[in-house]
Amino acid sequence: MTMQIAVVGSGIAGVTCAEEIRKLDRQLLVTLITRETHGYYSRPLLSHGFSRADIESKIVLKSFAALAANDIAVESGAEVLRLDRSAKALHFCKGGTEQSLNYSQLVLATGSDALLPAPFRSQSGLFHVLNSLDDLVVLRRLRERILAQSPRPRWAVIGGGLIGCEVSADLAKTGDEVVLFHALPRLMERQLAEEDSATLLGLLRGAFGIEVLLNQAVQGFSGVEMDLSVCLSSQTAPGFHGIIVACGFKPRIELAQATGLETRRGIVVNEFLATSDPAVYAIGDSAELPGGRLYAYVTPVRSQGLWLAKHLAGQEANPWKVPAFKPKAKVPGFEAAHPYLF
Ligand SMILES: Cc1cc2nc3c(=O)[nH]c(=O)nc-3n(C[C@H](O)[C@H](O)[C@H](O)COP(=O)(O)OP(=O)(O)OC[C@H]3O[C@@H](n4cnc5c(N)ncnc54)[C@H](O)[C@@H]3O)c2cc1C
Repeated sequence: MTMQIAVVGSGIAGVTCAEEIRKLDRQLLVTLITRETHGYYSRPLLSHGFSRADIESKIVLKSFAALAANDIAVESGAEVLRLDRSAKALHFCKGGTEQSLNYSQLVLATGSDALLPAPFRSQSGLFHVLNSLDDLVVLRRLRERILAQSPRPRWAVIGGGLIGCEVSADLAKTGDEVVLFHALPRLMERQLAEEDSATLLGLLRGAFGIEVLLNQAVQGFSGVEMDLSVCLSSQTAPGFHGIIVACGFKPRIELAQATGLETRRGIVVNEFLATSDPAVYAIGDSAELPGGRLYAYVTPVRSQGLWLAKHLAGQEANPWKVPAFKPKAKVPGFEAAHPYLF
């Protein structure tokens, strides 16, 4: 019987794995199932989503039609609802109709959502996140509406990690006013040495004209769209047209959890990227490797996709090894003097 490999997710993990399987073995059936409709796009480029006018088309690296032409069956606009591991089937909803697909091997490449601190979760109508192309499209439309009323949009960005710093710089580059609130005493404290955090702070405040507020415990938000306030412990910062929350990432583990696979912060896998069910693998932002390690950067994620394709094609018997990788904060003019910590 022909092996059917089902891959859930069309980010860099899922697409890399599906394309590589197709390259290595033309006999295996490969189906990619994704809720996305735009095609396969570059998530890192989302950080330049405001300063580049052509971003909505240029960010798409490959259309789903191109993947289908390469003999990968694509179910786009399809939400995977649940897994039935005893029947080796997954159930998805597409165009309002529920369908199912049987698999021999299943690859969960479900990626990550933006992490929302608990106090923000009930206030989703008051802020935005920048985690997907859909999010960017919504934010760009909001910016157009703001510009129709006010010559200079004013944004609050919550979180001085990699994404918060990049998005703040990009908005400032377009001429918008940005206030960046960070909970801790220095920027990107998990990735940068102290001296480099200080350099980044100087650059954002100086060259980009961003008001960076450190040690700010944001409690929540109030107001209405285009007239929003950021609530701090002892005061309120008013006058924002829009608020973007960039407080980290949350692996999408719900499908795995609901079907009884072992999960912790991510979907738990061994060094062969297999979950607690040997017919189900997990790769990318959603996978948690031994030692509780998550590798939410494109180089290791792509490497997992390539490695797993080889493994599934019967051409790799050694465990996956983390490649050397050096992601950088994409803030124009910023170079760290010390290596990043990961
Ligand atoms: C703004 C931003 C900037 C970044 N910049 C960098 C950078 O400069 N360098 C770097 O190395 N990394 C960067 N990253 C991180 C990097 O983009 C991620 O590590 C990488 O994209 C993860 O890929 P993935 O395929 O695991 O997940 P994702 O890209 O999240 O893809 C997951 C896919 O699964 C689909 N999916 C999930 N659940 C379901 C379901 N139930 N049914 C159907 N489909 C489903 C989603 O729709 C999506 O298509 C950045 C991330 C962001 C958000």
